[in-house]
Amino acid sequence: MDNFKYLMPTKCYVGDNCIKNHGKEISCIGKKALIVTGRRSSKENGSLDDVVDTLKSLDISYVIFDEVEENPSLETVDKASNIGIEEKVDFIIGIGGGSPVDASKAIAVLINNKEYNAFNFIGASHLEGVPVIAVPTTAGTGTEVTQYAIVTDHKEKTKKNIGHIVFPKLAFIDPKYMENMSYKNTVSTALDAFSHLAEAYLNSNANILSDLYCEKGIEIFGGCISRLLNKVLDNKLREDLMMVSTLGGMAIAQVATSLPHGMGYALTYNKGVSHGLANTILYKEYFNVFKNKERVEKIIQLMKLSSLEDFGNILDNLINVDIKVTEDELRNYAKDMAKNAGKLKNHPEEIGEEELFNIYKKSLIK
Ligand code: NAP
Ligand code: ZN
Repeated sequence: MDNFKYLMPTKCYVGDNCIKNHGKEISCIGKKALIVTGRRSSKENGSLDDVVDTLKSLDISYVIFDEVEENPSLETVDKASNIGIEEKVDFIIGIGGGSPVDASKAIAVLINNKEYNAFNFIGASHLEGVPVIAVPTTAGTGTEVTQYAIVTDHKEKTKKNIGHIVFPKLAFIDPKYMENMSYKNTVSTALDAFSHLAEAYLNSNANILSDLYCEKGIEIFGGCISRLLNKVLDNKLREDLMMVSTLGGMAIAQVATSLPHGMGYALTYNKGVSHGLANTILYKEYFNVFKNKERVEKIIQLMKLSSLEDFGNILDNLINVDIKVTEDELRNYAKDMAKNAGKLKNHPEEIGEEELFNIYKKSLIK
């Protein structure tokens, strides 16, 4: 039998109005909250109001930090954590997509470890954060059930995981917040969720429990494909995509992501490609080079597609980005990826710099 560890400590409430129905649990977590969110969407989709109303009803005080940008920078994390420390908050509520929720996790660590700042806490041995509550409003990252927090380091010109384990204590997962999300954002985040499931399935660390999440999540994603292609963004699609995302998060929490995520960061950092598209634009080639064809075939079957080519055509239809990139740039990205031991060890097959370059080249230079 395989040896593996399983950890999923986040208590999740899933479904319509789950904050209103179960928000009273927040009073067990802390007395003063720092609400961390993006600039606009949480004000427009009702999630911020739901959280604020609940805190008011529980007599819990709060401060709002609403400046988190996409791919949150260490500078933003630093600013918010200083506010949290000054305001003496004892827990964080992250509302939004992966960016605000990931920023919340980093801020939680810094508030609890005042001797560090955003520019020196990555790489320190494990630091605990104050409790985090997550309210996801995108169906993509699954960050509400992962221990990861991805930040942008402008000095090193890259994105990285903070490396400290911060699972949210509570997650309120309500698909209604996505009702008015644009088609573009819906597709990009949905593909991110799919990529978590696929990379967890084709992973050195895959085990019976992570496979369970992956197989169910990929099957549900397969059922979403025609609605995505036909732009049928109804409530059922939102619910299905939210489950795909949370299942993907639960899977990568166990086994982590691998090649496409490692390779996609360079496209996000240098070319501004959204996270989900940056990974999945590489997927046709990633599946092509993956030697264990049985495992790839199983993914195609779970989605009820006829072939890898069928899947490639679907990606071509969903991904509409024109990335201007030179072969020299791709050589540099491949060189960096070949040194990314953390991601490479999750890929169960030998792969060298030239093959990584070819994945980039075949995917991006037509
Ligand atoms: P995001 O960067 O959080 O948000 C993208 C955009 O979507 C923002 O403009 C945001 O607006 C908007 N938005 C959010 N919710 C919305 C809604 N309900 N309706 C309409 N617009 C909405 O996107 P994301 O893809 O969820 O997160 C990406 C980040 O997560 C990346 O940094 C990625 O590296 C990271 N990530 C983390 C994990 C993990 O396990 N921790 C896994 C994968 C990826 P506002 O700015 O106004 O809110
Ligand atoms: Zn991702």
